Amino acid sequence: MPEPQQHQLEIEQILDISLPSAVQQLNPDWPGSEQVELYIKRDDLIHPVISGNKWRKLKYALTETMDNGVAEIISFGGGHSNHLHALGYACMKLNIQLIALVRGDYSQHPTETLKDLQRWGSQVHYLDKLSYRKRSDADFIGKWQAAHPNALIIPEGGSQTLALAGVGEICAELTQHFDTIVTPVGSGGTLAGLVTARPESSLLGIAVLKGEGYLEQLVTELLPEGACNPWKILHQFHCGGYARVTTELTEFCRDFHLQSGIAIEPVYSGKLFFALKQLLAEGYFKPGSRILALHTGGLRT
Ligand SMILES: *Cc1c(COP(=O)(O)O)cnc(C)c1O
Repeated sequence: MPEPQQHQLEIEQILDISLPSAVQQLNPDWPGSEQVELYIKRDDLIHPVISGNKWRKLKYALTETMDNGVAEIISFGGGHSNHLHALGYACMKLNIQLIALVRGDYSQHPTETLKDLQRWGSQVHYLDKLSYRKRSDADFIGKWQAAHPNALIIPEGGSQTLALAGVGEICAELTQHFDTIVTPVGSGGTLAGLVTARPESSLLGIAVLKGEGYLEQLVTELLPEGACNPWKILHQFHCGGYARVTTELTEFCRDFHLQSGIAIEPVYSGKLFFALKQLLAEGYFKPGSRILALHTGGLRT
């Protein structure tokens, strides 16, 4: 039997993962920000392709794959999926065959993400939207598993129990106390991982899509039994839905980059900081609070 996690350091070296990520203080000119101390954890700098939180979520799935000598991974995502993009790159570097099941038929007009996947040797299958909806059904998973008996199947967004420990390492890296940690929420794995790590902080999620109730359910399903830290998701900052963008949000992202020198994108990190700016203006946080915003990455160069 191989030692568990014998490949962990080796994988980080092969992929050139840069950890721990820095924590930096932010001093924006936003009304209300003078009442609190605002910090950012730069998970966007972990790797140029393996987007910050995607590395956190994939770390132990990839380690287990290598430890078990598994040569195939099956996973899911949309045509622009950061998860598939990060996973496709990692699999190419680690000699794992990725089978990517993609929502919708892009065979005539592949996105940049899908072109990268093909260039990196992933097998891409296009599923119509109805089939894709079955992606978590036991029947559907069973068929793919039967066709690829040794493959590890990773759910959409990489959010699964195996992802929690990797995300939890964000908290283990912190050397200062924060009252609140704020993160964007897409499929819930990042928030669930932070909650599971039980930092001395409350956890605040910013929904990037219309999913009141649904996102809470995703997070709850991932959490282990027993009491975890208090957490909450705010739903008023998604700007109309997943990947929906307003002119205000685009301008905000540009100004934030100009003022802080830190690039953000409108799908995840843009909505996170846009929400923080509004919450600070409303006096949402207790004066004197120390707030840590998690920059989950998502930028493509
Ligand atoms: C995937 C992604 C998220 C969403 O994380 P979940 O764990 O799915 O909630 C947030 N930020 C970026 C940049 C992402 O790529």
